[in-house]
Amino acid sequence: MKLRKVSAAAATALVLTLTATACGGDGDSEGGSGSGGGDKIKIGIKYDQPGLGLKEPDGSFSGFDVDVATYVAKELGYEPDQIEFVETKSADRENALARGDVKLIAATYSITDERKEKVDFAGPYLLAHQDLLVKTDSDISEATDLNGKNLCSVTGSTSAQNVKNDFAPKANLKETGGYSECLAGLQSGSVDALTTDDSILAGYAAQAQYKGKFKLAGLKLSNENYGIGVKKGDTETVNKVNAALEKMVKDGAWETAVKDNFGPANYEYEPAPKIGNIVK
Ligand code: GLU
Repeated sequence: MKLRKVSAAAATALVLTLTATACGGDGDSEGGSGSGGGDKIKIGIKYDQPGLGLKEPDGSFSGFDVDVATYVAKELGYEPDQIEFVETKSADRENALARGDVKLIAATYSITDERKEKVDFAGPYLLAHQDLLVKTDSDISEATDLNGKNLCSVTGSTSAQNVKNDFAPKANLKETGGYSECLAGLQSGSVDALTTDDSILAGYAAQAQYKGKFKLAGLKLSNENYGIGVKKGDTETVNKVNAALEKMVKDGAWETAVKDNFGPANYEYEPAPKIGNIVK
C-alpha cells in the first residue's frame, strides 16, 4: 500500500515534468509563470493605441500588435488564453525585458541601434513613419512650422528624440508618459501638434470622439521599423519569433491583420517587410 502511494507521487511528478517540457519549455523562464498545464506567456503591448494595441472597456485587447503577438505566441506553443498582456509604455520597454517582466514586446517598438545595445529584436514586421497630428484647421504642415509651437510626444519614443535632435529643436516639446495625455492636450488647445508614427496617429484621428477634429500632416519624417523586443542574448526566441513572423506573412494572416486593424482608420500601410531588412 505504502509502495503504491510512493509510485503514484513519482508518477505525478513525472507527468508534471513532461507537461512543463511539452509546453514550449518556457515554464521556468522570464515572462512565463508557473509550470505545467497553467503555463503562461507575458507579452508587453500598448493599452492606448487604437488599431495597434488597445485595452477595450470590457478588458479585452485589440489591434495589429495584439494580433501579431497572438500569432507569434501560438507558434511558440501558447494558446490565446495562455497569453497575459501587460502594458509596456514607451520609456519602460527595455527595462521590462531586462527585468524579465515580459518575454516579448509587441508595442509599436521601433528597432534602433541604441535600443539594440540593451535588447534584441525579431522582425521587422511593419514599416511606419513619423508624422504629425494637428487640429483640422491648423496651418502646421511642415516640421519647420513646429519651432516655437507646443508639441507633444511620449518620453522614450523615437519621435520625441527625433524632434529634439533633428526636426524642430526649437519646438516647445512636452513629453508625457502615454499618448492619451497628448491627445487630451491637442483637444484642449494646450498642445498644437502631437508627433509619433502615422500608424498610431491614423488610429486616433479615426476614433469616434475625434472624428473630423484632427488631421495627419502626411509627412514621412522617419522610418520606423517595428520589431518584437526580446531579452538581450535570447537568440533562440529571436529565431523562433522570426520564423513565426515569416509564416504569418506567407499564410496571409499578416495581410488579414493589417486590413482588419488599419482598414477602419484608412491607414495606408506599407507592404510586409522582409525579416532582417531595416529601412534606414
Ligand atoms: N515607434 C516609435 C518608438 O518605438 C514611436 C511609438 C512608441 O512610442 O511606441 O518609439
